Amino acid sequence: NKQVIFRDYVTGFPKESDMELTTRSITLKLPQGSTGLLLKNLYLSCDPYMRARMTNHHRLSYVDSFKPGSPIIGYGVARVLESGNPKFNPGDLVWGFTGWEEYSVITATESLFKIHNTDVPLSYYTGLLGMPGMTAYAGFYEICSPKKGETVYVSAASGAVGQLVGQFAKLTGCYVVGSAGSKEKVDLLKNKFGFDEAFNYKEEADLDAALRRYFPDGIDIYFENVGGKMLDAVLPNMRPKGRIAVCGMISQYNLEQPEGVRNLMALIVKQVRMEGFMVFSYYHLYGKFLETVLPYIKQGKITYVEDVVDGLDNAPAALIGLYSGRNVGKQVVVVSRE
Ligand code: NDP
Repeated sequence: NKQVIFRDYVTGFPKESDMELTTRSITLKLPQGSTGLLLKNLYLSCDPYMRARMTNHHRLSYVDSFKPGSPIIGYGVARVLESGNPKFNPGDLVWGFTGWEEYSVITATESLFKIHNTDVPLSYYTGLLGMPGMTAYAGFYEICSPKKGETVYVSAASGAVGQLVGQFAKLTGCYVVGSAGSKEKVDLLKNKFGFDEAFNYKEEADLDAALRRYFPDGIDIYFENVGGKMLDAVLPNMRPKGRIAVCGMISQYNLEQPEGVRNLMALIVKQVRMEGFMVFSYYHLYGKFLETVLPYIKQGKITYVEDVVDGLDNAPAALIGLYSGRNVGKQVVVVSRE
């Protein structure tokens, strides 16, 4: 069983050497009397929140730390080989928490969703039809209360979550602008995902001026993925009664001291509502989400870009690449295609 082992707690930017590849021999059988599942892992998801699990007891962490010496845990798509749980049968496909290894025994089966629709790429259940897709859906529709004609700004807009938020905003009839960190990503935003405008934030010396250029009348909705300087630049550009969905702040995850935000007064003056949310509070909407999104995919109204790397050997580099913007679209690792 090839595995990606978490070595030890991380400070600052994570490195490939914080993880180690090993091979352990296992018997491909569930332990006697187990109520869990033996899974064959197919696709693994690299997600920004995983940085929080590399830290020991962070005050603001919302997830358990990885255990040094044990495999990395994350979202993935897997096939059930053996089941000790009557809700699952051998051959079922599932998505949810699994290990970064070829085969996993999962006892926390309540976090697994059964996959019923297989006429889409299975890797979509790490992104578009999995946790990031639910995040975009819940964050945009539940937190932002969008209305036709409103102006929407999305940061980290070409990523797993952002590319969908932009497409939801267009389907709602909004004007939407995204920012991302390379020319290739900006081109995708404009030409593939249908954003009205897009810019490379790394090329803007003055973020406030850039936002005023794209939003001369201000921003109704900001979908926050990055935090820090970007949030500071957005706040004075919000329109009265605007909404900010605080989804993530990836620019802060590797800092020992988070950056201060100076322009919070804008919340009062502009009467803006800024609300953080966690996707796991919205999984009860997953059925409704699928009913909405699957037809859009089939009608070609929603498209999705993935950055797929092959093999567990390439998983550590793929994961840390999220924090330098190496990924173009949803970062997926293939363990096995069948
Ligand atoms: P992405 O696919 O967008 O990958 C991360 C991207 O973030 C990189 O490609 C890079 O793009 C950008 N980035 C990295 N470092 C910085 C930086 N210092 N400043 C600005 N941008 C940076 O990730 P996801 O779509 O999966 O996640 C997006 C956000 O949503 C994250 O903050 C994540 O934590 C959050 N999230 C929150 C959830 C919740 O429940 N609240 C659930 C899921 C995700 P670029 O080249 O454009 O810089």
